[in-house]
Amino acid sequence: MVFLNNASRNTHLRPYSSSNTNAIINAAAEPPPPTQSHPNGSLAGKSIAIKDNILTTATPTTAASRALHNYPSPFPATVITLLQQHGAYISSKTNLDEFGMGSHTQSSFHGPAISPFSRNGVPLTPGGSSGGSAVAVAEGKAWAALGTDTGGSVRLPAAYCGVVGFKPSYGCVSRWGVVAYANSMDTVGVLARTVGDARKVFGVLDVYDERDPTSLLPSVRQRIRSKRSSTAGRGKKMRIGVPTSYLTTSISPAVRAAYASTLTRLQAAGHTLIPIGLPTSKLALSTYYILAPAEASSNLAKYDGIRYGYRTSGPDARPKEDPPLPFYAATRGEAFGDEVRRRILLGAYTLSSEAMHNYFIQAQKIRRLVSRDFDAVFALPHPLHEDTAQRPAPLPSDENKEDGKGKVDIILTPTTPTLPPTLSEIAQQSALEHYMNDVFTVPASLACLPALSVPVPLPAEVREGMEEGDVSTVGVQVIGQLGDDEGVLGAGEVVE
Ligand code: GLN
Repeated sequence: MVFLNNASRNTHLRPYSSSNTNAIINAAAEPPPPTQSHPNGSLAGKSIAIKDNILTTATPTTAASRALHNYPSPFPATVITLLQQHGAYISSKTNLDEFGMGSHTQSSFHGPAISPFSRNGVPLTPGGSSGGSAVAVAEGKAWAALGTDTGGSVRLPAAYCGVVGFKPSYGCVSRWGVVAYANSMDTVGVLARTVGDARKVFGVLDVYDERDPTSLLPSVRQRIRSKRSSTAGRGKKMRIGVPTSYLTTSISPAVRAAYASTLTRLQAAGHTLIPIGLPTSKLALSTYYILAPAEASSNLAKYDGIRYGYRTSGPDARPKEDPPLPFYAATRGEAFGDEVRRRILLGAYTLSSEAMHNYFIQAQKIRRLVSRDFDAVFALPHPLHEDTAQRPAPLPSDENKEDGKGKVDIILTPTTPTLPPTLSEIAQQSALEHYMNDVFTVPASLACLPALSVPVPLPAEVREGMEEGDVSTVGVQVIGQLGDDEGVLGAGEVVE
């Protein structure tokens, strides 16, 4: 559902939650002079916009939901503290799909966001769910931004808005103080104008946090650092995996042309292209849309109106029964938008005793196979299966040899199957059609891998006849082995 309030209807471009009627405000209008705070920090004086599902204390955090419409957090997320300790200042909170569920930043309590780009003058979706962060960076309103990426929400809007979007390996960046959607995949990511800028932000966030039980332990980080000589980056010849199974999906001619010309350019520069099979990836989208709603239905159970957040003021406002079911139903029915309610119902169903085995358990098994497919093609071993005895045996369908032949340093795919759709196109699409946008981003999310979307120009023949302000780039996605974030960023610098 698209929430259109009066404010949003009349607004031309609304990348910020702060410009909506719920008065989410910028934390700081002006940067503090670098001399006052951490002048030597690696991010001194840099403005960072923050997706509004990451807790800040100077401004409320809403997750774009009525459920948290004015929630004042008593503490900041670890990532906020780290940014500030390195001299950055938080310039604003940005719009998103409610609780991060969506691909177009249209299902926000604050009203939809719009891309700064257009197609023949027609407004486009900025992508989602971190659409506000992508627009803020694309428009130069922030030097960089944080988003969250569960199934593609940093990479997809980055691709649609012509900026860089980096989803680190799961576990590198703390999730403490990040509103949970599907916590086994939720990852804080960075949007920036260049890969170098994204790396600087990631550099300060990539630390162990004891408050996040899924934070990679110092010993694992040490192992990753000591055993990895980065395999990709400037001056290195890369073995680039091209997943043939992805190319059969319906990719639009414009995206196909930009992806193909990137591959040709890399090959001409001396990198080797290696066709790879990731056979289970074709099941990744349906697997993701079972697991993510299942986790969401559990995570969102706490928004019951009793402890905090929105509570109904209607006829059921005074809980009379124990448990107060009419109160819960009224509160939650009013608090959540259509898409969030759809996910809760879907998740509650797949976790129910009658459906659990057919859906949730099967999806968990497929998730393991998706990871195993990736593991079988990367030259670097998985740091959590370091011991060769623990490395998964290749599947019978593997086209990739055990002897290291056919192994790759990174994988390159398009980030999205199409250029950004117009707002009227997505308004006519079904929920399922929205989900299809995530087909290339969810496999890395299921496997917890680092993945980066880098904008590359549309080839000249595709740009012919385009108007000023039309979107002129396509996102190309670099995926690497878990822990090889540096290799992915290095490869991204070669691609950009
Ligand atoms: N579009 C996907 C979803 O709606 C991904 C969202 C995300 O990464 N937060 O689940």
